[in-house]
Amino acid sequence: MSEKKWVYLFNEVDKAQEAVGGDWEDVRAFLGGKGANLGDMTRAGIPVPPGFTVTTEACLAYLHEGNKFPEDMWKQELEAMKEVEQLTGKKFGDPSNPLLVSSRSGAKFSMPGMMDTVLNIGLNDETAEGLAEKMGDARFVYDAYRRLVEMFGSVVLDIPDEAFEHPMSAYKAKKGVKSDTELTAEDWKSITETFKAVFREHTGTDFPGDPYEQLKLSTEAVFKSWNGKRAVDYRNAAGISHDLGTAVNIVTMVFGNMGWESGTGVAFTRDPATGERKLYGDYLLNAQGEDVVAGIRNTEKIQNLENDLPEAYQEFLDICEKLEVHYRDMQDVEFTIEDGKLWMLQTRTGKRTAKSAVKIAVDMADEGLISNEEAVLRISPDEVDTLLHPQFDISALNQAEDEGRKIAHGVNASPGAAVGQIYFDADKSELKAKEDGQDVIMVRPFTKPDDVHGMLAAKGILTSEGGATSHAAVVARQFGVPCVVGAADIKIDLEKRQMDVNGKIVKEGDWISVDGTTGDVFLGKMPTIAPSLEEQTDLLTLLNWADEICAAPGIRKAPEGWPTKGLEVWANADYPADARRARSYGAIGIGLCRTEHMFFEQERLPIVQRMILADTSEERTAALDELLPYQRSDFSGLFEAMDGYPVIIRLIDPPLHEFLPSEEELLEEVITMRVTGKTERLEEKEELLEDVQSMHESNPMMGLRGVRLSISMPEIVEMQVRAIFEAAAEQTKAGIEVKPEVMIPLTGTVKELDWIQPRLERIAADVMKEQDVNFDYKFGTMIEIPRAAVTAQEIAEVAEFFSFGTNDLTQMTFGYSRDDAERNFLITYVEEGILPKNPFQTIDQDGVGRLMRISVEDGRKSRVDLEVGICGEHGGDPDSIEFCHLIGNNYVSCSPFRVPIARLAAAHAALKHSNN
Ligand code: ADP
Ligand code: MG
Ligand code: MG
Repeated sequence: MSEKKWVYLFNEVDKAQEAVGGDWEDVRAFLGGKGANLGDMTRAGIPVPPGFTVTTEACLAYLHEGNKFPEDMWKQELEAMKEVEQLTGKKFGDPSNPLLVSSRSGAKFSMPGMMDTVLNIGLNDETAEGLAEKMGDARFVYDAYRRLVEMFGSVVLDIPDEAFEHPMSAYKAKKGVKSDTELTAEDWKSITETFKAVFREHTGTDFPGDPYEQLKLSTEAVFKSWNGKRAVDYRNAAGISHDLGTAVNIVTMVFGNMGWESGTGVAFTRDPATGERKLYGDYLLNAQGEDVVAGIRNTEKIQNLENDLPEAYQEFLDICEKLEVHYRDMQDVEFTIEDGKLWMLQTRTGKRTAKSAVKIAVDMADEGLISNEEAVLRISPDEVDTLLHPQFDISALNQAEDEGRKIAHGVNASPGAAVGQIYFDADKSELKAKEDGQDVIMVRPFTKPDDVHGMLAAKGILTSEGGATSHAAVVARQFGVPCVVGAADIKIDLEKRQMDVNGKIVKEGDWISVDGTTGDVFLGKMPTIAPSLEEQTDLLTLLNWADEICAAPGIRKAPEGWPTKGLEVWANADYPADARRARSYGAIGIGLCRTEHMFFEQERLPIVQRMILADTSEERTAALDELLPYQRSDFSGLFEAMDGYPVIIRLIDPPLHEFLPSEEELLEEVITMRVTGKTERLEEKEELLEDVQSMHESNPMMGLRGVRLSISMPEIVEMQVRAIFEAAAEQTKAGIEVKPEVMIPLTGTVKELDWIQPRLERIAADVMKEQDVNFDYKFGTMIEIPRAAVTAQEIAEVAEFFSFGTNDLTQMTFGYSRDDAERNFLITYVEEGILPKNPFQTIDQDGVGRLMRISVEDGRKSRVDLEVGICGEHGGDPDSIEFCHLIGNNYVSCSPFRVPIARLAAAHAALKHSNN
């Protein structure tokens, strides 16, 4: 059996790839990202200083065996050093021509907490003297030597940085010099000796002069750093596996500080902020790697290198281009020029802003580097989310931080930037926003369902308590209001109408700026940039590609007769203006129009109340006759906005008492009237109170609502259906293509549909006949009661479509009332791992999802072309969207704001699960 290979020279990357079975991701895990790419660049003929990688496997074996190198590893490392000596013509530890190397850690994913780089390994008293003589530059050599002692001490042996910094500044002070550049060779030599003394003092041993000892100790230190606290914490936070290990890269030193023909720099192959296709980076002549990052000297823009070192610059440009073609993505590179000769020291995929990510993906697809599908897959739904919300101007952010105006930080619950005057309750927030037209930030310890009117009127929401699933967070996300929750530094005094933020008092009416994207809170007004979708042409292109992916028949594997395209994205919209916004965001249907919202409008509510309280059928009909034209015009506007696309209108759903004044309110009025003797309307109010009391239900959510209400009082829905079809007829005559779908809510048994649906269909037929028009329509139901889900096969014999109302379905499946759950125990459940996520945000696949799956499968047994969708808030959640794709939904419907996110998520689901 051949011995196990623990060490790979950079020019042996083929062998490494073979050893792991060919897949590049496995090579990255095996050699670490840095090592794999150094090998890969070497293979591509790009100049990389000779070197080798000790594998992550060796690291794991070392840690596993109680900090012992695995058998043969050290032997192989020594052999690899011999090869590097061959390649460079230098010798490790040889004073006449010493080889110097760096030791660099590198795991599969780049992560802070891993061991820092040690440069100049191989220097000792002898090699330093030899090198100084050979180069004729003792100053340079002793500067390098003291750096080694310092780095080796702090990185490998954990000596605190100050231990070196103090004697260094003391030395400079004694000599009366300010800058390092004023120090001579003798100075550096003397500082090296001082550093060696510091080393001895802290470790009890001499600085190891033996280069091989240096190599061995730094290799071990890199291995051990895998289990260092900072690295472990980071992996926990970032969800990176603890079994990957880190590799060690030993790289021949190249020097950017050998004079003015030398230099070093870092660059991105495209602009990481905007995505623009031009190099973005900095360099310094006559400097070493860290100098650029440390900002000791002012760096030059990478483009200026063309004037300083034109040949090296041209070669660098060519290499950058080559790297982009090779990796098919924007790269972040490090390079050093030694005496005019360019060396590449690192390349990796560059981090970027959401805006830049979209531009780069679209450009690279246009350039033919990647396919449209890959471009779509490179952007996450979260990035799209970020791009659609107003953001603070970056320079204003920096300025505010410099001026100390960043006052608090909380959970970034709903993205976007908001600026406004603060108010501490919902009523006042609404009042100030609506009546005075102010920009309002509503500030509360936490919010409750009866705060929603204030939250909707506000530009932003800030709470001092609660987490990502708190009521404030959930509502804010649903309505696209920027929100920060749980900003614990804020102490709200509702009595005094002010808040205390670390001693700073902010009063009601003062301006603050809230960044829901980052969770930061600032004092004062900050300028925002409001991106509109129409202006983001790259994003539009990308979303069109996403739509094309979903529109392709066959992208989804499905049983005979089921949809084989991806999901369509529809929107929930109650008003024509919402529908138009939904269309502009790319929705191709309305999945939910809630008609009762129309009942709440000021001029209509009295009519609605009259209708509810009617004593006789004639009175009721008269009130409904008055309401009909209102409803008809609402629907008419919706059909017009959705010309050619389906519109699902849900018949009245809430219990009737919601349209009446509350019992407490009426009771108070009646008592006041009796006490004060102002009794003109007393009788009327007393009657109303009696009616309201008679309608009292102990649990209205499970009471007389939805289809139950329609059966007990069919006149309302009969009016609604007439209004829908009259509106549809009117628009058909006007040349609009209408596709009305009437949705019956809260069905629990097919008998309910058997009772109500034929009556309604008769009205539909009547209207078409009266108006002499014809168009297609559907009658269907919501699936939001578990009994409906498990009897879906029978229900689908009557219903022509299903729409999952996943909010109620989740409430009833879990037996939770959402508001109570989110206020009282859901956060604990998620924190304790009893639930993986808030089931009101992401569908609970095992329970609620199982019911959904049964519904689709059984429903399509009765009606293979049953149209299935979802209209709950989950319709805009990427994980839930993927689930809807898998169970065979035709579409998802979400709030208009989330339509672009859903379009991208639908394409991701389609690509992820397609076999092409
Ligand atoms: P990081 O992961 O922190 O970027 P690196 O291993 O890339 O760490 O190295 C830190 C700095 O040292 C970088 O500027 C890098 O270019 C420089 N460096 C590392 N190895 C060498 C070498 N062999 N020759 C010259 N500079 C080097
Ligand atoms: Mg590092
Ligand atoms: Mg680096």
